[in-house]
Amino acid sequence: MTGTGRFVSLSPATGAELAGYPVHGQQEVSAAVGRAREAAKGWARAGWSGRRAALLTYKRALAARTGEIAAVVAAETGKPDHDARSEVLLAVIHLDWAARHARRVLGRRSVAPGLLSAHQRALLAYRPLGVVGVIGPWNYPVHTPMGSIGYALAAGNGVVFKPSELTPGTGVLLARIWAETLPEHADLFRTVTGQGPTGEALARSGVDKVAFTGSSGTARKVAAVCAESLTPLVAEGGGKDAVLVGGDLDDAGLDRAAEAVVWGAMSNAGQTCAGVERVYAVASVHEELCERIVRRAKQVVTGPAETETAGTESADGSRDPHYGPLTLPSQPAKVEHHLKDAIAAGARVLLGGPESVRAPYVHPVVLADVPEDSPVMREETFGPVVAVNPVRDLDEAVERANASPYALGAAVFSGSRRTGEEAAARLRAGAVSVGSVLGFAAIPSLPFGGSGESGYGRVHGADGLRGFAAPQAITVRRFAPLADLTSYATP
Ligand code: NAD
Repeated sequence: MTGTGRFVSLSPATGAELAGYPVHGQQEVSAAVGRAREAAKGWARAGWSGRRAALLTYKRALAARTGEIAAVVAAETGKPDHDARSEVLLAVIHLDWAARHARRVLGRRSVAPGLLSAHQRALLAYRPLGVVGVIGPWNYPVHTPMGSIGYALAAGNGVVFKPSELTPGTGVLLARIWAETLPEHADLFRTVTGQGPTGEALARSGVDKVAFTGSSGTARKVAAVCAESLTPLVAEGGGKDAVLVGGDLDDAGLDRAAEAVVWGAMSNAGQTCAGVERVYAVASVHEELCERIVRRAKQVVTGPAETETAGTESADGSRDPHYGPLTLPSQPAKVEHHLKDAIAAGARVLLGGPESVRAPYVHPVVLADVPEDSPVMREETFGPVVAVNPVRDLDEAVERANASPYALGAAVFSGSRRTGEEAAARLRAGAVSVGSVLGFAAIPSLPFGGSGESGYGRVHGADGLRGFAAPQAITVRRFAPLADLTSYATP
C-alpha cells in the first residue's frame, strides 16, 4: 500500500505549523529497505577501515552542523538550544565510539577449540544482519536513534529510520547530512516519515532487525508484528527511575544528591526515559533532603525563551530557560491528572501542584509521602515532577525501587562507595549510577537497556554492536589423521 497524503509537524511552544512531510506507506518503506539492502553490498566492500573512515566523516559533518541540527530539534521538541546541542554532542560521541570499536568487537578472531577438537581451528566472525529498521521517539530525536543507527551502520548494516511524527524534520536532516557527506553510500541510510502505521510498515518490511525506542505500549505492538515473521527486536521502552539516598551522607553529599535529583527530574522537562521520577530517602535525612530539593527546584526556570531572566546561557549569549514546554500536546493533562490523583491519595505537596501545569509549560513540582500505588509512583509521569518518599533503610529503598514494573536506570547516593555499590548490585535496573544520576548516558562503551516494562535487549557499547550482527562459527580442519584419532580417544 502506498502512503496517503502528508502530515505536518507542529511547534510545541506555539502550536504553529513547522513543515509538511509525506506519509510513507508499505510500498515506499519496502522500497527504501530494498535500496538500503543493495547499498549494503558496497558497504561490505568498503571493509572495516573504509566503513570506519566513512562513519568518522559523517560524525565530523554532524558535529560541524550542530547548530543547524539543534535548531530543528529545538523547533520540533521545544527544548532550549543548549539541550538540543548537547544531544547532538551525545550522538556524535556514540557514532565516534561505534566507528572506532566495530572491528575490535566484531572482527574475525580465533577462539580456543576445546578438548575434543584439538585439530580444528575455531574462528568466530560477526556478520552484518542486512538492513536494520530503526523506529525512534521524539524526546531525544538525535541521541536516541543514533544509539542504534550508528552501531548498526558500524556493524556493516544498512538502516531505514522512522523518526517520531513529532520530530520528522530531525530524522530527515540526519539522513540528508549522510547523503550529502557520503553520496557513494547515499542509499545505505534513509529516513521514511509518517505516524504509527509507517512504523508498523517498517516492522513488516522484511528488515533483518527492528530497533525500537518509545513507549512500552507501542513496544508491545511492534513485538507482536515482529513475532509474525520472527524478526529480531531490541525494544527500548519507558522507565520510572528511582534514586536511593542513604542515611550516612555528610552535608556535602546530601547537597550533591539534591542537586542531582533536581537535574535528573527536571531537565528536558522530565521527558527522559531514564529521568528521575522517584526518590527513596532514609528517614533520618528525608526532611532535610526534601528541603534542599525544593530550594534548588525553585531556581529552575521554564517558559518561552527570552521572556525569562534566569536559565542557561545559550550559544548566542542569550538566556534560555532550563527547559521548555512539554512536547506532546496531551502530556500536560496527563501530568495534572497524576498530580491530582496523588494529592487526593494523601501526598504532601512541597513545591507547585496541579496549578504548575500551564500548558504547554509545566513548572517544577516536588511531592513527598506519595502512596506507592498511585500513578505518580507506578506509571511514567514524563513531566518535571519528583516524588520523595521516606524509607527505613537502604534495604527498604531497594525493595521499593524494585517493585516498579519498569527497570531501566537507577541511582544510589550513600556515605560510602561500598554501601552504594552493594545497593546498586541489588537493584533491578539495566544501568545504575553511584554518586550521580544518568552517569551512564554519556558513556558509549556501556550497554543501555532495561527489563520488564522497560523492554529488552541492549543498545550502545560492545553489546550494542553485537546486537546488530550475527555471530558465525567457523571451523577449519587441519589435515592430521593420526593425531586426530588419538585426540578423540583421550579427551
Ligand atoms: P511512542 O511509543 O508513542 O512512539 C515511538 C515511535 O513508534 C514513533 O516513531 C511512533 O510513530 C512509532 N509507532 C507508533 N505506533 C506504532 C506501531 N503500531 N508500530 C510501529 N511503530 C509505531 O513513544 P514516544 O511518545 O515517541 O516516546 C516517548 C517514550 O519513549 C517514553 O515512554 C520514553 O520513556 C521512551 N523512551 C525510551 C528510551 C529508552 O532508551 N529506553 C529512550 C527515549 C524514550
